[in-house]
Amino acid sequence: MEKLISGTRRLGLGLSAEQLDQFEVYYRELIDWNTRMNLTATTDYEEVQVRGFLDALTVVLAWQPPTEEPSTGKSPAVIDVGTGAGIPGVPLRIAFPGIRLVLLEATAKKTNFLHHLCGQLGLEDVEVINTRAEKLARSDQYRETFDLVLSRAVAPLPTLVELTLPFCAVGGTFIAHKKGNVDWEIKRAEAAITTLGGKLREVREVDMPEFPDRRLLVVVDKVSPTPEKYPRRPGIPAKRPLHS
Ligand code: SAM
Repeated sequence: MEKLISGTRRLGLGLSAEQLDQFEVYYRELIDWNTRMNLTATTDYEEVQVRGFLDALTVVLAWQPPTEEPSTGKSPAVIDVGTGAGIPGVPLRIAFPGIRLVLLEATAKKTNFLHHLCGQLGLEDVEVINTRAEKLARSDQYRETFDLVLSRAVAPLPTLVELTLPFCAVGGTFIAHKKGNVDWEIKRAEAAITTLGGKLREVREVDMPEFPDRRLLVVVDKVSPTPEKYPRRPGIPAKRPLHS
């Protein structure tokens, strides 16, 4: 895990031997299951460390878990929307055992993998949910209850904010991992962000030698509740995005 160790050091994160073992198990399980189903196009040991695990952890450039308040003992609640094989949620949970994590994924085969993976990693408290974001966001148990909402490689921003911001508590944050030139995408998402109760805080460049391609974190604060009518029915946010 040399690549992950040097990269996380650059991010100011120290990983224990136990955490590095968990990443090793994660890699092994990913590659093993990938022979039977399509989980990842990246299978090389070093590439998974960088493009999978380290990329997920760059979220710390824009978000750090609050140091736990002994009086409340409340752990930050995090949801990863369209998590696929667990990116970015699982690496974040390994690095920060104090977070309460929900992994949301629409494809049952992938959630089977996630259940197995969490068992192997000893992360039995991670909640794996097999449904669509448009449906889960209608449930009082999950709507506007998360301190941090994450999502990588799921949809263009105007669609993505409708799938994610409804989960974010007012005062919470949504962070999207993006690649390449997304200026136009961000511009197109401005109206949707406002409509859904968000406010764009920053677009943070990930300036690390591991990522010569342009990587960005789009950081949106939730400043007011999402109107009841959002998200719309499954498929509609992608078909008719709320773009500017
Ligand atoms: N986030 C992972 C990553 O970066 O490796 C997976 C990315 S994969 C390209 C997109 C995933 O989002 C797919 O597994 C897909 O099933 C899931 N997805 C797409 N739309 C969704 C929705 N509306 N609700 C839940 N999951 C969704």
